[in-house]
Amino acid sequence: MEKREQMYEGKAKKVFKTDDPRYVIVDYKDDATAFNGEKKGQIAGKGVVNNTMSNIIFQLLEKKGVPTHFVEQISERETIVKAVKILPLEVIVRNVSAGSFAKRYGVEEGIVFDEPTFEFSYKNDDLGDPLMVESHALALKLATKEQIETVRKYAMIVNDTLKEFFLERDLKLIDFKIEFGLCDGEVILADEISPDTCRLWDVHTNEKMDKDRFRRDLGNVEETYQAVFERVKK
Ligand code: UDP
Repeated sequence: MEKREQMYEGKAKKVFKTDDPRYVIVDYKDDATAFNGEKKGQIAGKGVVNNTMSNIIFQLLEKKGVPTHFVEQISERETIVKAVKILPLEVIVRNVSAGSFAKRYGVEEGIVFDEPTFEFSYKNDDLGDPLMVESHALALKLATKEQIETVRKYAMIVNDTLKEFFLERDLKLIDFKIEFGLCDGEVILADEISPDTCRLWDVHTNEKMDKDRFRRDLGNVEETYQAVFERVKK
């Protein structure tokens, strides 16, 4: 497959056309942003980690019955994926309180939930990705009821799979964000699953091993991405 012109450049990835309209190539950058783009920086090596880690996880999820956009990794930073139309809903699943949940409700981080929570954010940078209830997503025709049911079902499989996967690697899955796209009318998992999009705490020390090290200036950012990568590869 041939890499053609760039279609789009996002905060952490570039997307290129190929000679086949059914496929695109994503190219992961080391650029990092937080707080809706207000904080900007670089995390050396992050693109390689996030690309490879996402692909390992997407292949595992395929085995668990979640269809994904993954096709083939072609270099350290580049992967061929199915071209999709992204649903403008960020799906967030939480097992433990942290981040915006702790802030919104004025509670500490680290409260373990009996059941995972499930929420949407409206994927809209100008609005700062606001929390959105399902009826509003339906009212705005961002997705159909059936698509939302499918998204919910897949999100729960992703949570169960990732919780086990990370626990085997001495990491607690606190929360994560995923995105879905439409391909031939079907809902499939797209975007990435990485320390940029998951909160992961070390099982023994509760040390944060994710993008919060960048967001909150906790130090050892590059080292932490590499440490997660080493655990994920094993
Ligand atoms: N998240 C993400 N992209 C976003 C917002 C959140 O990947 O634009 C991830 C974040 O890394 C965390 C989870 O979604 O694992 C829940 O994030 P939260 O709502 O707590 O927001 P944050 O504290 O990141 O602003």
